[in-house]
Amino acid sequence: MDRASRIDAGDVEGNADDAEQRGFFGRFGARIGKGRNDSAPNLHTREALLLLQNYEESRQGWFWSTDAAGRLTYITDAVARLMGRSGGELLGTPFVDLFLPADSNGERQRTLPFLLTRQSKFDDLPLRAASAADGEERWWAVSGRPHFGGGGDFAGYRGSGTDITAQRRSAEDASRLALYDSLTGLANRFHISKKLDSTLAAFAQQQRSCAIMLLDLDRFKQVNDTLGHPAGDALLKQVAERLLKIVGDKEMVSRLGGDEFQIILPDQEDRGKLGDVAADIIASLSQPYSVEGSRCIIGASVGVAISPFDGVASDDLVRNADLALYAAKGGGRGRFRFYSSDLHQAAEDRRALEEDLRDALGRGQMELHYQPVVQAKSNMVTGVEALVRWNHPERGPISPSLFVPIAEEANLIWALGEWVLRKACEDAARWPGDMRVAVNVSPIQFANEDLPRVVASALATTGLEPDRLELEITESVFLGDSNETARMFKALKGLGVRLALDDFGTGYSSLGYLQSAPFDKIKIDQSFVRGATVRGSRNGAIIAAIVALAEALEMETTAEGIESLDQLDLIRKLHVSHVQGFVYSKPVPHGELLEHAEAGSWMIKPAGPAKQRTDRVSLFRKVAAIHDNHRYGVVMRNLSASGAFIEGLLEVPVGTRFVIDFGEGQLVTAVVRRSMKHQQGIEFEQSLVSDGNGGLCTRHRVSPYLIAAAAQNTPAMALPAFTTTSDWQAA
Ligand code: C2E
Ligand code: MG
Ligand code: MG
Repeated sequence: MDRASRIDAGDVEGNADDAEQRGFFGRFGARIGKGRNDSAPNLHTREALLLLQNYEESRQGWFWSTDAAGRLTYITDAVARLMGRSGGELLGTPFVDLFLPADSNGERQRTLPFLLTRQSKFDDLPLRAASAADGEERWWAVSGRPHFGGGGDFAGYRGSGTDITAQRRSAEDASRLALYDSLTGLANRFHISKKLDSTLAAFAQQQRSCAIMLLDLDRFKQVNDTLGHPAGDALLKQVAERLLKIVGDKEMVSRLGGDEFQIILPDQEDRGKLGDVAADIIASLSQPYSVEGSRCIIGASVGVAISPFDGVASDDLVRNADLALYAAKGGGRGRFRFYSSDLHQAAEDRRALEEDLRDALGRGQMELHYQPVVQAKSNMVTGVEALVRWNHPERGPISPSLFVPIAEEANLIWALGEWVLRKACEDAARWPGDMRVAVNVSPIQFANEDLPRVVASALATTGLEPDRLELEITESVFLGDSNETARMFKALKGLGVRLALDDFGTGYSSLGYLQSAPFDKIKIDQSFVRGATVRGSRNGAIIAAIVALAEALEMETTAEGIESLDQLDLIRKLHVSHVQGFVYSKPVPHGELLEHAEAGSWMIKPAGPAKQRTDRVSLFRKVAAIHDNHRYGVVMRNLSASGAFIEGLLEVPVGTRFVIDFGEGQLVTAVVRRSMKHQQGIEFEQSLVSDGNGGLCTRHRVSPYLIAAAAQNTPAMALPAFTTTSDWQAA
């Protein structure tokens, strides 16, 4: 019996491979030569042939066969048509020509020609069609078995194929998903880390530099929590768009997850340019967003690390950028920061401080000091602001500007805030007269719906009249959900306490807040007041406008941080109603306050310098000056971007050139422009740039590769260190 006749329908549908392996080829399709089926098939065979024909026509699979030379002797017509040919046209062409060579599609498989010449069988080999009638990419999984003639000679192949184009596409989509963040379309963490690995590995060989930036959104959580996740998602998309606009290269920007982003900047080591990019990013991301009809404002902090200076392996580089980011956030957010090796120590200190802070309250290390708030016209103290102090057993007093942010981050602010509130009310209840007490409320406390209950309880247990308590709030509370903010304002006002807007002039300073929120007072920040005394500043005019608006809305105004008499003068002229600052008094311990308060009315005569001292802290810094193969230790003062004074060398002629070594590969060439006996004014040939932390750094650093090379040849970096002035004279 013919072998074909043994095939039953189940075989055909279930396993086309089996079908062809048993040597079945029907009369459909094109076929060369005489087949066994030329003899009239019996009924059973006929049925099987029809089934096969149906199968081929259903396009679920196709069949092929070749002669010993690999030329097609059969191919299903339907598949030939997909290639823009007919089955007949293809007969005689080499089977391998139907497909693109393996290399061109990146398949890491044994190639088809290899398998065919080895006469091996193969299963489901993915092959890409060399041509397609519709021009689309088409893929097949092709199987084949060699067959042999009567004498056992190789006679060719028989096989089948199935269309796997759809599976390939969805697999590609899946791998795209595995590489890209589905929300923003940016590269995901996996993708960018692979990219960074390969970039750094390649660049290390070519001694090229590469910077990375880690970026974290400030206050994103607040938006997400209050406006909801869909709004948070919409916001992240806009952030991604703004980032792409600045960075340009889509492949180099990634969302690592949450509100964290990473950017790779190949061949960048100029800290001037990188600082500009970081500042651009921060400025762009800090512009208001419109999400789902609400307006919201967030900020961003950026940490920068540069290979090879700050790490060669990607793990090191990312860890150091992260440390820089952490420092940027700690430095007040909305900033960028370059990595430097001392950040490790700073991070360590902060962790230790956080640890100590957990026990500080329980151990009675917290204390309140009170700073008088004085009516500008009469010099009468009308109230005080409670300012928390931490007396650390080893480190001594620590400033709240340092530990309050740590407390906020470490979830300790609620307990600390409650303690401050209760203590301030308790103290104030003991004061004779009706002096007010102001208490600072962190935005985190403000966002807690328990706040009104705690305030009410503090008032009730101490018996303090509500209108003697003033809560100071910063405008960042307006960044959250406006409905909840309004509800909180209402609840607090309902208790009868007063509300003050603190630090006005440091943030977004929208006058709109003043109209919508029930403030009793605006506190103008010291930086804004100081700016007003600078010639040409418009701050004075702005303060006058704020005062006019405040008067119209029946609010008081307080100018903070007034130190000098000329500032006080200006403030009085601008009709600011109250003043708080060293010109009247520093914050004092409770005992001292009691003495004054108990003496009856408390009046202070302003006292202070006529003018504000310039704030320039004359910076001392030990650096090395390299000249003529000698390295001198010198002290640097009054560092500015363009120059400095150095001390430690005697009688250096004007025009002498030095290389100044600031450490960590930071070298600049400098020329002596002025020379006094042991002090020289030097000018840098290339200006220093901002380090993002109020300091300066060099644009470029000497690459570790160069240093390694130099140590072998001319060890300019390893010069002997002379530190005495006589060395210079000797040199
Ligand atoms: P703030 O609320 O703006 O407080 C005013 C700050 O300015 C105080 O710093 C005060 O000592 C300082 N200051 C006042 N007059 C002058 C002056 O003439 N010159 C200068 N240079 N400074 C002046 P302090 O006590 O270090 O507090 C810093 C910040 O820490 C406060 O700023 C406030 O935001 C926060 N803070 C203080 N106590 C608390 C608290 O109990 N809870 C919360 N959440 N934050 C607090
Ligand atoms: Mg305050
Ligand atoms: Mg303030």
